Amino acid sequence: MKTVLRYVAYPLIVVLSLVAYVYLREVGLSAGLSVFLASVVNMVLIGLTEIAIPLRKEWSLFKDWQSPNDILHAIFSTEFAGRIPRLILASASISITAYLSEKNITGLWPTHWHIAWQFALVALISEVVFYWQHRMHHRSFFWRFHALHHNAEQMHVLKSGRLHAGEIMVRILVLNLPFVVMGSPGELVFAYGIFSNTLGNLGHANIAVKLPHFMHYVVVTPLVHHAHHAIDPEFRNSNFSGAFTFMDIIFGTLRLPQDNRLIQPGITEDFYPKFWLWQLFAPLLPNSFFNAKPTKSLQGESK
Ligand SMILES: [Zn+2]
Ligand SMILES: [Zn+2]
Repeated sequence: MKTVLRYVAYPLIVVLSLVAYVYLREVGLSAGLSVFLASVVNMVLIGLTEIAIPLRKEWSLFKDWQSPNDILHAIFSTEFAGRIPRLILASASISITAYLSEKNITGLWPTHWHIAWQFALVALISEVVFYWQHRMHHRSFFWRFHALHHNAEQMHVLKSGRLHAGEIMVRILVLNLPFVVMGSPGELVFAYGIFSNTLGNLGHANIAVKLPHFMHYVVVTPLVHHAHHAIDPEFRNSNFSGAFTFMDIIFGTLRLPQDNRLIQPGITEDFYPKFWLWQLFAPLLPNSFFNAKPTKSLQGESK
């Protein structure tokens, strides 16, 4: 049974999460709420799979003392701090639409394309923007926010949402701005959102899945993303992609470890305090405030 699960879990969770999203839309829920609820379904499925076929038995969201912090960051970042960039985008949308119609610039989004090609365009734009904003977060000032995501010492599904509110605000703004400017259909953007959320959650999961090797060159698998969480800077400064790996392949930053059981997640000099509320302030205060060491060895990208 477990052998079968190792082969089917990954594709099955992707399909069930997308089916959950489509079902929730069909029964009349808003796209935003459907993405949220389908993501919850997705995380529960991954959580159960982590119990059945863990990659490493010592990793568990139930035994990780940081799990409550992970949940608090996920809720606060997306549901509260995330409202700020969404409000900015909503008001920007009105101004941009007015400006473009004044200049007689219309039809930036190719509505005449087949829906599949439009979806592919959403995917392409999302992945290009995600890759560069993620690389930016590995540099200088932005690293102080992104380090929260990387200081986790074990991988499981809750680590996906362990993102600082400051990083989430930047991410929502830059990922959605191209679609606001181009007037992209919201339905397609939300549909891609649940797809990338699903792959993102799976990328952090503590599950021993068997996948064909070529998959690591197509999508962000646990092997690909666990390597990005490695304490080893050579791996950490690689694998920046969100859902598909083509940007890492194009820019030569894809690195596949032999086995993600050998990856040790974490950062060498962790300046974050232990409690959620202090973690929110940590990037903005001197390291000495929390008696933490500087993070000099982590700044900048090593090639
Ligand atoms: Zn990163
Ligand atoms: Zn991650």
